[in-house]
Amino acid sequence: MTHEQGNLFDEKTLAEATSDAGARIEHLRREIEHHSYLYYAKDAPEISDGAFDSLMRELRELEAAHPEYYDANSPTQRVGGYVGEQFAPVRHASRMYSLDDAMDFGELDAWIDRVEDFFGHLVPMVCELKIDGSSIALSYEDARLVQASTRGDGVTGEDVTANLRTVKNVPLRLREEARDGIATSGVLELRGEVYMPKTSFEALNAAAEAQGKQGFANPRNAAAGSLRQKDPNVTASRDLSSFLYAVADENMLTLETQWELLQWLHEAGFHVNPDVKRVTTREEVHAFCEEAIKRRGSLPYEIDGVVVKVDSFAQQREMGFTARAPRWAIAFKFPPEEKTTLLKEIRVQVGRTGKLTPVAEMEPVVVAGSTVARATLHNEDEILRKDLRVGDTVIVRKAGDVIPEVLRPVLSLRPEDAEVWHMPATCPSCGNPVIREEGEADYRCISIDCPAQALERLLHWASRGAMDIDGMGEEIVARLVESGRVADVADYYTLDEFELSQLDMGRANKKGEAIRLGETVAKKLVAAIDTSRHRTFARALFGLGIRHVGKTVAESITAVFPSIEALCAANEQDLAGIDGVGEKIARSLYVFLHTPDNVAVIERLQKQGVTLADEVDTTQQLPQTLEGLSFVLTGSLVESGMTRDEAGAELKARGAKVSSSVSKKTSYVIAGEAAGSKYDKAVALGVPVLDEKAFLAILETGEVPEQ
Ligand code: NAD
Repeated sequence: MTHEQGNLFDEKTLAEATSDAGARIEHLRREIEHHSYLYYAKDAPEISDGAFDSLMRELRELEAAHPEYYDANSPTQRVGGYVGEQFAPVRHASRMYSLDDAMDFGELDAWIDRVEDFFGHLVPMVCELKIDGSSIALSYEDARLVQASTRGDGVTGEDVTANLRTVKNVPLRLREEARDGIATSGVLELRGEVYMPKTSFEALNAAAEAQGKQGFANPRNAAAGSLRQKDPNVTASRDLSSFLYAVADENMLTLETQWELLQWLHEAGFHVNPDVKRVTTREEVHAFCEEAIKRRGSLPYEIDGVVVKVDSFAQQREMGFTARAPRWAIAFKFPPEEKTTLLKEIRVQVGRTGKLTPVAEMEPVVVAGSTVARATLHNEDEILRKDLRVGDTVIVRKAGDVIPEVLRPVLSLRPEDAEVWHMPATCPSCGNPVIREEGEADYRCISIDCPAQALERLLHWASRGAMDIDGMGEEIVARLVESGRVADVADYYTLDEFELSQLDMGRANKKGEAIRLGETVAKKLVAAIDTSRHRTFARALFGLGIRHVGKTVAESITAVFPSIEALCAANEQDLAGIDGVGEKIARSLYVFLHTPDNVAVIERLQKQGVTLADEVDTTQQLPQTLEGLSFVLTGSLVESGMTRDEAGAELKARGAKVSSSVSKKTSYVIAGEAAGSKYDKAVALGVPVLDEKAFLAILETGEVPEQ
């Protein structure tokens, strides 16, 4: 009985899962067809190739997992393309195929493995650049160009002969030297790519823009669009070029390999890309691809990968074709900068000032060479503007080192029950209500007890730019907060070595015993905490994490009010009068300094021996020997081990001004080791440069030593 029920249940979920897959397959096919039409027929794609390829990949994987949905008309089974009605149809001498692609080195290796398995050993291959243009077939009869056509759907292309005749570097007649290579008479169909150089594409788009017209999305679409013009004069006005690399029927030539074909095409008068290599090992293929990735940006035309082909025609014939691509070749595609993935969740993060930031949690995808699983969505307005919903398939972009960004949803793939997203009314960390101030995009949690804010505040205090407590990282601080031992920054200074060494790190070793922080780390941490007691007042003020009080602002404030007492005694107007501090900052600072909980923390910090003043009280004031002089610090002060902030404070204590950039008014530049552009600028402006020795002499004597 229960057994039967169990079976029924399983079957139902399986059926459900399958029908979900069926629906998804259907939606993907429709979406891909729509984009193929825009791309091939209109030459005006709406999404990037990377995003398109990632939809295609998902479809291919789903179809492989669910063979019951096989359809010969699926975009995965066909050569993508379009035959427009304004051109006469041309039947190709043999099918024009697409290429299977390898999205990374792993997939490239899998193809190389297949070749190796097929022949029992690796055979010679040819590596070529994959030119990102439009496929073209050129027919020559008695060595004269008689017809040119696009790839179309692979079987039938569009007759673009008149247009093609205007493309530079396509010989209208084959050169005498190549005659020997032709085995039989008849129509010889040669194939290659028509492309538009990058600079010509930019010029074309700039001209279109100047006339208020829409430009092309990329050089590939510009080449395809320019070739498929009704009026050949328009094509002639576009700077198109070509590279040839294939023959429809190799039996028509006396050649035996792809490598020989490339030489022959060159002899016949065609442009053949010079970046080609005949290789025999996997390592050489990898090296060629890596080199191509590096050189991609500096080539005058776009490439979107590398094509690796089995060199021998006989061996190519042995491997044959699938419905859409040769088995003897693979297109290694460059890491795309855009991909599609699932938006699984929008998580709200609480920052140290209580700012709520929505973060996209996504199914991990590799984009531009690194895995992306998370991206900030900034604020609620941004999410509404982009119309992003949990459950959406989204396009993510990451170019090089740039931070990943969620661009937009693929609307046709949106689940029916996906809901519009709104910021929660309460803080996800402490549960208190959140507010949005007028004119601001951000929501905030203003609760003083919010643990998420506490964690961020504690990390900020310990960070390098603030009190620089070496080793006090996220994991340790989180454990200290969770254990209830540390709740605010003053608590750091009450920690002792033994207690820290026993801190439970929330993990167990192989024997199942709790892992503790340990003596060595504890000792170092206590020393680092101790050192931090004597940082400059500006660093401490910045470290408190007062809204709008960044590092530079903290320095301006402490220059005027060099102690916490002086600062707390100032009214809002006094504060607003400080250079670089306006009403907004003054208000935020004033409120912070007069909030009882904060006052309590400040008092406890002082009790724990944290210096909240620059040592300039009049009893101890140093003679102001450097008054009227201005200094700029650059490089690192290795001998004294001082940070530049600390060195600057010493100079200021003697009446000097310290600024961050060199100008003609700068009196001296103090250059430590590995000084950079400020040093160069000082030399250029004739500003005297002092080394660290001279700086130390100033601290000792109060005077600038004679040069
Ligand atoms: P493909 O462009 O990936 O590969 C096949 C083509 O590569 C061949 O037809 C040939 O023209 C070309 N090629 C360039 N250099 C070559 C060389 N040295 N040797 C052999 N061939 C070479 O495949 P495809 O089926 O033509 O088109 C798919 C491409 O079009 C994908 O990159 C896809 O992203 C893009 N596309 C984009 C959209 C969109 O909306 N963005 C829509 C449809 C297709």
